[in-house]
Amino acid sequence: MGKATGFMEYDRQESPYRDALERIKDWNELYLPVSETIRLEQAARCMDCGTPFCHSGIIYNGLPSGCPLNNLIPEWNDLLYNGKWEDALSRLLMTNNFPEFTGRVCPAPCEGACTLGITNPKVTIKNNELAIIEMGFQEGWIHPFIPVKRTGKKIAVIGSGPSGLACAEQLNKVGHLVTIYERDDRPGGLLMYGIPNMKLDKKFVLRRTELMEKSGITFILNTEVGKDITKDELQSNFDAIVFCTGSTTPRDLKVENRNANGIYFAVDYLSKNTKSLLDSTHKDNQYISAKDKKVIVIGGGDTGNDCVATAIRQGCKSVHQFEIMPEASKERTTENPWPEFPRYKKTDYGQKEAIALFKEDPRIYQISTKGFEQDENQQVIALNTVKVEWSKDYDNNFFPREITGSNKKYQADLVLLAMGFIGPDSELVNHFALETDKRSNIKAEYKNHATNIDKVFAAGDTRRGQSLIVWAIQEGRQAARAVDLSLMGITYLP
Ligand SMILES: Cc1cc2nc3c(=O)[nH]c(=O)nc-3n(C[C@H](O)[C@H](O)[C@H](O)COP(=O)(O)OP(=O)(O)OC[C@H]3O[C@@H](n4cnc5c(N)ncnc54)[C@H](O)[C@@H]3O)c2cc1C
Ligand code: SF4
Repeated sequence: MGKATGFMEYDRQESPYRDALERIKDWNELYLPVSETIRLEQAARCMDCGTPFCHSGIIYNGLPSGCPLNNLIPEWNDLLYNGKWEDALSRLLMTNNFPEFTGRVCPAPCEGACTLGITNPKVTIKNNELAIIEMGFQEGWIHPFIPVKRTGKKIAVIGSGPSGLACAEQLNKVGHLVTIYERDDRPGGLLMYGIPNMKLDKKFVLRRTELMEKSGITFILNTEVGKDITKDELQSNFDAIVFCTGSTTPRDLKVENRNANGIYFAVDYLSKNTKSLLDSTHKDNQYISAKDKKVIVIGGGDTGNDCVATAIRQGCKSVHQFEIMPEASKERTTENPWPEFPRYKKTDYGQKEAIALFKEDPRIYQISTKGFEQDENQQVIALNTVKVEWSKDYDNNFFPREITGSNKKYQADLVLLAMGFIGPDSELVNHFALETDKRSNIKAEYKNHATNIDKVFAAGDTRRGQSLIVWAIQEGRQAARAVDLSLMGITYLP
């Protein structure tokens, strides 16, 4: 274990973020490094408890508890505490292909299940994970993995998000020749064109995909499967196909004047901003600007928070974030006990920036948008809203009830819809005649990942529905295992 008395000697010390009012002046990452001494002390806090829930990765009440990748957390915390960085790295890479992504942006269900967290502040598992992988890159311990022997089998992976990347890397490791098709101009899926640069610097995505290329994986960018290359072409050229195409259809808000100018889906807003940043440091003006605008983000989740942070960096006049659900409690409630994923109120980086800049929390709770108002140029100028309260129906399901007389108008010049995604692109699914499930995701069993079409598999958000990077990596790995087994009759992949 780490240090027997570590959790009594050292307080939890999270890696700090840059000052909110400073960091909003640029698009650089939020995080500040900590000293090696602090990192080892933080690892020393791990108790190596008899039954570590942190690496269990099970679902309680619909949410993950413990690491879905089953990362060997107590083992690498112990190695880290003892200064054995390279050994800690090799343990970490046994279960996680891309700790540099999860170590930055995972919501860390591991920490919610940390046993120390029952009585004390939990172990900084996510920060420790990031420190181990970045030390690996810094010290030159991470190399391309070129397999000694090739199997002669060729596999097409559609989509270069975390599920596609994990799947490709695993398949390449056992000697298959993998080609990744990606319709965007850069690889990474939502790692590249979703999560903003300040949360995940794109140089780290490219560092990884370049390493994968050197390992023998081919990336074909700017190529949309179903349009630029057909199902028949893929099926005749490859032994297996894996759909890692994400959940790309955003949930819309079909209310009055929805088509007014100035109303956009969050992911379009975020991706254009990142592309313009990478292409020309915004000199090309090919992005949706919030400069001097009153911005309203509809959707209180992480994507909405990324929009708040982006609008602030673009110089918005004001920003508010609408959430239909009630404000969460400040701490765990009895309905949400350990080791469930903690569902208490968290104030994310963008919301903290809004508080620092505008001196108020941008979130407005229990609010529903009934319609938009537009001017004579069809430019959105306001949102008509009503407050809601939540009640239970006869089947014990919660539903929102409008509060009479609570109507309110909010002025806005830019509205961003961040209400989640409802499934994969149906055109592509139909092109391949793939079966879908009740939620319109591609139908394939978890762990088996085979679809209704022979030698066609599916993994990540396209199969699971909108989720997390850690699940996408996990599904990519599982799908690789299933493909290998189906092609070779035996597999050594975990
Ligand atoms: C704004 C935003 C912020 C997020 N922040 C976080 C976070 O902080 N932490 C976290 O854990 N999760 C976060 N998520 C969720 C996370 O990004 C996703 O769960 C994850 O990326 C899903 O991975 P994936 O590989 O299944 O799909 P994606 O990452 O969506 O990748 C799918 C890829 O397939 C490509 N594609 C689709 N169709 C075709 C086609 N026909 N031909 C070729 N290519 C195609 C797409 O262009 C895309 O690159 C966020 C999501 C969003 C939208
Ligand atoms: S991948 Fe996420 S859940 Fe797993 S150890 Fe890292 S931060 Fe925790």
